[in-house]
Amino acid sequence: MQIQQQVPLAPLTTFKVGGPARYFVEARSEEDVRAAVEEARSRGWPLFVLGGGSNLVISDAGWPGVVLKIALTGITRRRDGTRMMFEAAAGEDWDEFVAHTVACECAGIECLSGIPGTVGGTPVQNVGAYGQEVSETITKVRVLDTTSGEFRELENADSGFAYRTSIFNARERGRYIVSLVTFALTPGGTPRIEYADLKRHFAGRSRPPTLAETRQAVRAIRLSKAMLIVPGDDDCRSAGSFFKNPVLTHQAFERLQLRTGPIPNFPARNGMVKVAAAWLVEHAGFPKGLARGPVGISRKHALAIVNRGSATAADIISLKNEIQQRVLDTFGIELQPEPVLVGFDQQL
Ligand SMILES: Cc1cc2nc3c(=O)[nH]c(=O)nc-3n(C[C@H](O)[C@H](O)[C@H](O)COP(=O)(O)OP(=O)(O)OC[C@H]3O[C@@H](n4cnc5c(N)ncnc54)[C@H](O)[C@@H]3O)c2cc1C
Repeated sequence: MQIQQQVPLAPLTTFKVGGPARYFVEARSEEDVRAAVEEARSRGWPLFVLGGGSNLVISDAGWPGVVLKIALTGITRRRDGTRMMFEAAAGEDWDEFVAHTVACECAGIECLSGIPGTVGGTPVQNVGAYGQEVSETITKVRVLDTTSGEFRELENADSGFAYRTSIFNARERGRYIVSLVTFALTPGGTPRIEYADLKRHFAGRSRPPTLAETRQAVRAIRLSKAMLIVPGDDDCRSAGSFFKNPVLTHQAFERLQLRTGPIPNFPARNGMVKVAAAWLVEHAGFPKGLARGPVGISRKHALAIVNRGSATAADIISLKNEIQQRVLDTFGIELQPEPVLVGFDQQL
């Protein structure tokens, strides 16, 4: 295991901000993961697990301990009755994995095409888009339990999946390191065309789209919103959506709409209502394309804070705070950030 020092983290993130890692280790096997965790523990270094860096704001000071970059690779598949079980190592690129499952004509994650990051990052916030969430197809998550130093498998039901959350980013945050994820997909299955943008894309067609066409459509829609990483496009130098869509009770939502008029919304679990955070941000006075020096809002998506090239983490946090305060003052709603804030010494 090679331990590097003072490794710049900004290039390893999609936001391209943040200082260095005091120590940096790349894990290519489960043994590497275990060894790095033991090393960090014995030396008293705080540990941060890095996937593809697509859901992070790293502080300008960087990380004072060890950053463990998950680089485990390998994908296998086997038939299990009517399902195809795919086991993907945590360091595999997520979108390449989706492409592989689509090429194998297996349905279940095609709408999650084009999301950056690693396979191991997806259970953490129960990644979702265009009508699918990974929790619908994940059967098992293999993890190193850092409290015991042993690897174990967590079933779907043990993972606490809900909208943009799981035990990995909530109750048991920091305890588990994901090494392998198992997905149960449907061979020869049809794509899910439930999301409005996708329905519109395929409207008027005489035959249903294939999985490959659905993947292409999702990527095209994402491209139009700068939600696909395209080198050189500063509208996607971001962490994707910066705020979660607030989930309100039906009554709270009705009260809000009495004040505002109609707000785009989606049904959530248990009769709750998910309100479009992008609408709240725009209507609180932060339009697409807004510029605040080196930071701003994407020209193509009101929910993405973007780094126009020379932003610092402090610039991003300052705009985030301004948006949160204004949305609270205007609508009485507390927006929660979606990216993980790393290396900040206080709650922001
Ligand atoms: C342009 C753009 C579009 C996006 N669109 C979407 C979208 O549509 N839907 C969506 O849900 N998200 C979206 N995201 C957010 C992000 O891509 C996902 O959350 C992604 O799954 C993060 O994975 P990662 O490997 O990059 O994790 P990182 O950003 O490296 O880490 C995120 C968190 O996960 C933890 N983590 C990562 N890997 C592991 C592991 N192996 N074990 C334990 N913990 C781990 C980290 O410690 C950190 O807490 C988007 C981001 C961008 C930049």
